[in-house]
Amino acid sequence: MCGIVGYIGNEDAREIIIKGLKRLEYRGYDSAGIALLKGEDSTFHIYKDKGRVSRLQEITDFSYKSCLGIGHTRWATHGVPNQVNSHPHQSEKSRFFIVHNGVIDNYKELKSEELNGNNFTSDTDTEVIAHIIEKYSNEMKVDEAIRKTMSLLEGSYALAIIDTQNQNKLYACKNKSPLLLGLSDKGIIIASDVMALVGYSTKYVPLKDKTFVEITGINYKTLDIIGKEVEHEVKVIDIDYFNVEKGEYSHFMLKEISEQPSVIRTIISKYFDGEEVILNGDVSKAIKDSDRLYIIAAGTSMNAGYIGKELFEKMALIPTEVHIASEIAYNMPILSKKPLFIFISQSGETADLRAVLVNVRANGYRSLTITNVKTSTLAREADLFVEIHAGPEIAVASTKAYTAQICILAILAYGLSDKHINLRKEFSKLAISIENIIDKREYIETLVKDNLTKRNCFYIGRGIDYYACLESSLKLKEISYIQTEGFAAGELKHGTIALIEKDTPVIAIISQRKINKNTRSNLNEVKSRGARTLVISTWGVHEHGDQIVLDDVYELLSPILTIIPTQFIAYYAALQRNYDIDKPRNLAKSVTVE
Ligand code: GLU
Repeated sequence: MCGIVGYIGNEDAREIIIKGLKRLEYRGYDSAGIALLKGEDSTFHIYKDKGRVSRLQEITDFSYKSCLGIGHTRWATHGVPNQVNSHPHQSEKSRFFIVHNGVIDNYKELKSEELNGNNFTSDTDTEVIAHIIEKYSNEMKVDEAIRKTMSLLEGSYALAIIDTQNQNKLYACKNKSPLLLGLSDKGIIIASDVMALVGYSTKYVPLKDKTFVEITGINYKTLDIIGKEVEHEVKVIDIDYFNVEKGEYSHFMLKEISEQPSVIRTIISKYFDGEEVILNGDVSKAIKDSDRLYIIAAGTSMNAGYIGKELFEKMALIPTEVHIASEIAYNMPILSKKPLFIFISQSGETADLRAVLVNVRANGYRSLTITNVKTSTLAREADLFVEIHAGPEIAVASTKAYTAQICILAILAYGLSDKHINLRKEFSKLAISIENIIDKREYIETLVKDNLTKRNCFYIGRGIDYYACLESSLKLKEISYIQTEGFAAGELKHGTIALIEKDTPVIAIISQRKINKNTRSNLNEVKSRGARTLVISTWGVHEHGDQIVLDDVYELLSPILTIIPTQFIAYYAALQRNYDIDKPRNLAKSVTVE
């Protein structure tokens, strides 16, 4: 969600920033902007507009070289996405230019208490920050003015700041929203994540909350809010992480769906030695020592979390609860005596989860993060961390990260189970079965064309299939904008069946023998009311006429398989409607605001 890229150094700031913003596009945004120093005449210029980074490229003047600049992709929280509200914003007298990621909770109070009488040009909370910095810079040095401003801000912020009166410096600070420095011998990049550093730096410094940075050329100082130097760690970027080209595929989503067998094989190579699971002993011990697991997640990761609950309870016999991060953050349930909090996040930056983690740590509870990004805030800050090894996922709608999350949850649960199955073999079988579905994707494309003709759609299933339905429906609504519900099949008749009319698509997922008959009865109920039904079943429970029949796999792992055709259903529904599949409207990959 939103991206920041700033640069100071000897190379071309414009090129570095625009390339970096393009690399951050996957995070989701609605507007883009850049402020650049034109060295020849020491003037600063802002280019910004609603729309994509490609639009920013069109409106940016490329005729001069710049060695200082800040860029931004905005995911609007305060004020509609338009040219005026796009970042960078300026202080009242235009001395300071800033870009901001996050939300300032007390911006209204600050406007009236600190800036009474100032004129604002935008509706954003961000502009207030620029005005306050300018106000205090009249009374103190710029670095002090920025730190003073930090002390007044409540909420989340990653900020890159230019002082037009000091063209040799670039400033940054952060609280809650992610920000890092990319280092090179030619200059320094400020960015929201390492993707923006591709081709320019191999070393980076993750910034801690409430840190202020002053950068002069290739030198930088990291200070806390009162101006005391704080320690920082210099890390090396994992080059593999930059493997992010679309290649032969028309969309990242299609590429990422197709990568799922290889992701499973990577996970096997990372977490198995022969048939044995190899895990950091502290992780297994933490799970074993706890009397209840609390899975905290949001969106697709939460849907993976539900499968995790099934896996932990059925395989490892550990009671498990799944909580929506944004709810539990302010409404903690009565906890067991020895809780372990498991945070699941693709990006490891999800602000809703971070808020819970901060609270969990403050109360002394143990925490474990499961994420795709080992450099992320949640990975760094939890007691323990397990990487899902899905590789970079660029399409906003998650596919391979979801399956990788479930594989990792299965490995964790399996480690504490009676091992009555051979998980490694089951994973290998799954990878082959997924390949079989990928081979049939053109057939799924025709099914979508013939059946998903309405504005709405239902997925129904029971038990673990119901959890797969939740993710299937989320995928479909995210990218095709078809209003879709994932429903417990038996629950439909208790109200929602009123929405079924002629040709309403209802897709059933059936992978378990014990609920096969019941789900099929529910299908008949909707068919009798005119629904157009599609059935995704596994071989052992399939019936004549089921449109998509999958291989049999270990039942608790079936969502890893049943989800694949539904990912294709979502993909083709969006393709047939001509939507921007990899960057669906309003969505962000890395949801960094609460
Ligand atoms: N709250 C700011 C705005 O609405 C920043 C949003 C963002 O993180 O992109 O402009």
